Amino acid sequence: MSSTTTATAQILRGGEFLVKDSQPADTFIREELNDEQRMIADTVLQFVETEIAPNADRIDAMEPGLLQALLDKSAELGLTAMAIPEEYGGYGKDFITNTLITEMTGMGHSFSVSFGAHTGIGTLPIVYYGNEAQKQKYLPKLATAEWKAAYCLTEPGSGSDALAAKTRADLSADGTHYLLNGQKMWITNAGFADVFIVFAKIDGDKFTGFIVERSWPGLSVGAEEKKMGIKGSSTRQVFFENVKVPVENVLGDIGQGHKIAFNILNVGRIKLCAGVVGGAKQAAAAAVRYANERQQFGRSISEFGAIKHKLGEMAVRTFSAESACYRATAWIDQKERTLLAEGADYGTALLGAAEEYAIECAMLKVIGSETVDYVVDELVQVHGGYGYSEEYPAARAYRDSRINRIFEGTNEINRMLTIDMMLRRAMSGQVGFLQAAMGVQQELMGMPDLSADSSEPFAAETAAVSGFKKACLAVVGFAGQKLGKRLAAEQELLLWMADMLNDTFVAESTLLRVRKLVESGQEPADGPRVAIARLFIHDATERIRVNGNKVVTAFAEGDEARMLLLALKRFSKYPPMDTVRARRAVAQAMIDANGYVY
Ligand SMILES: Cc1cc2nc3c(=O)[nH]c(=O)nc-3n(C[C@H](O)[C@H](O)[C@H](O)COP(=O)(O)OP(=O)(O)OC[C@H]3O[C@@H](n4cnc5c(N)ncnc54)[C@H](O)[C@@H]3O)c2cc1C
Repeated sequence: MSSTTTATAQILRGGEFLVKDSQPADTFIREELNDEQRMIADTVLQFVETEIAPNADRIDAMEPGLLQALLDKSAELGLTAMAIPEEYGGYGKDFITNTLITEMTGMGHSFSVSFGAHTGIGTLPIVYYGNEAQKQKYLPKLATAEWKAAYCLTEPGSGSDALAAKTRADLSADGTHYLLNGQKMWITNAGFADVFIVFAKIDGDKFTGFIVERSWPGLSVGAEEKKMGIKGSSTRQVFFENVKVPVENVLGDIGQGHKIAFNILNVGRIKLCAGVVGGAKQAAAAAVRYANERQQFGRSISEFGAIKHKLGEMAVRTFSAESACYRATAWIDQKERTLLAEGADYGTALLGAAEEYAIECAMLKVIGSETVDYVVDELVQVHGGYGYSEEYPAARAYRDSRINRIFEGTNEINRMLTIDMMLRRAMSGQVGFLQAAMGVQQELMGMPDLSADSSEPFAAETAAVSGFKKACLAVVGFAGQKLGKRLAAEQELLLWMADMLNDTFVAESTLLRVRKLVESGQEPADGPRVAIARLFIHDATERIRVNGNKVVTAFAEGDEARMLLLALKRFSKYPPMDTVRARRAVAQAMIDANGYVY
């Protein structure tokens, strides 16, 4: 993390953003990447631009051996070794660097998914949970991509409900190996992976992780799935028929496979956000270039307000999602450093750090995947009929982005997890949620506080974000109190509450980033990034009120409902602004530069 942030930074615990205020000095922003990180980012970008982008059609046609060869090339640059500790042939890079690499490879379509599966869900379980012998045997080969990895959790009958897996493992009579039997579904890299992380139930009930090698008899794969997008990534079923897995290849503790399966997803989710932010920037840039070039009615379509609106909104959402992503990335990075300093090994430190911020990871997965879907949808629209043609990049971007709302936990599951985890941490006292919610209740009984100095820079925005937090606390707090365990069954409410939290987290992260940029002279007080923060907060104000109203009217009645609706009105306030002029200004900077500039 940059020294500008660490000097005075107050690092929040996971979920605490909702109950504590942050300052720009507490917030890492992407503009603070150090020289080495920027150099690595440039290397990855160059690799994607020269090796991946020109071969996109060949990759999607699944030209035999091509994707593997490209993974090998990325390994030659060291990219597959970045998150592997040095003693096992890797570089043991910090979390910010690894997230940045994911952002830069996120522009690589099918390659990104394959690269992410190998370096993330395929390799990290061994980094986190492998014993010394397993790490020594597998990690050096995974670091160089001599062996490629896949992760087998999902089955035909169990996706979101992963623990309902039927694949089983039974110990042999002589106790030397397990016999693995079952079937996995939708396995990325299955066509060529050498090493599979497989989850199976020992004796049919103890959910456990295993490291399985492709060459072992009894392992076979199905045909390539015919997918809507990411057509170049290999996705197949994997079958296990009496595969003999040596007992040495049990990963982690017997019966504790759920910890591996779920903890690996925390890192996967925040990295997914970084990857799609990279893809969204690329898509926004493509939209700008096309809009400048395409002439209709005697001028570039980028001169039309309708198109400027789309370009501006692409930037608002992408910049905001990115702000939230790097803010949380730096928290994980910092926590990892703290755990390392306390004596944890590299894997344990990253695992613990990501677990601490599991709420933010789930939120960012949803935020990122929905941001990129908006951007690619409008990318197609900006292209008109050409957006529907395979001759232009819009169609591939549109098809490829859709999977992000489905894997790494569907967005429904991640939204529900967000609220579930927040309430659990509230009940355990881990986040000072209950005190904060009580404070909001008391505030509601009293007169509104009008003492804030409205002449301070960003006073309205700061007050709005503070109000968003109170709106969340009021609604989630009351719903949790009133419905208790019954809340889990009211899924619609959980989804809306998660949206309120997501908007709040993104609004605050964007505001803090922009304040830091303005305070350090990197952005004028009336610059386009300031307009982005204001636009996001303006639109989030409305969404938070509407989502809150939907929740309240579903569970409260009479005086209670009236009080909560009034509270929502009081806590979702932001002065009217000319959003047309603001969005046009955001778009114009991109139009002038003929690319994405934020
Ligand atoms: C291209 C691709 C690559 C993949 N790669 C891998 C991989 O490498 N390894 C791997 O293990 N898996 C992989 N997956 C699987 C992926 O993780 C699952 O598809 C995903 O978890 C959803 O599971 P499912 O498809 O069974 O859907 P389901 O779980 O059946 O969900 C269907 C719908 O029901 C909703 N739903 C489910 N349960 C609930 C609930 N309790 N409450 C409310 N709504 C619910 C879901 O949100 C979804 O909208 C991949 C999938 C695809 C398509």
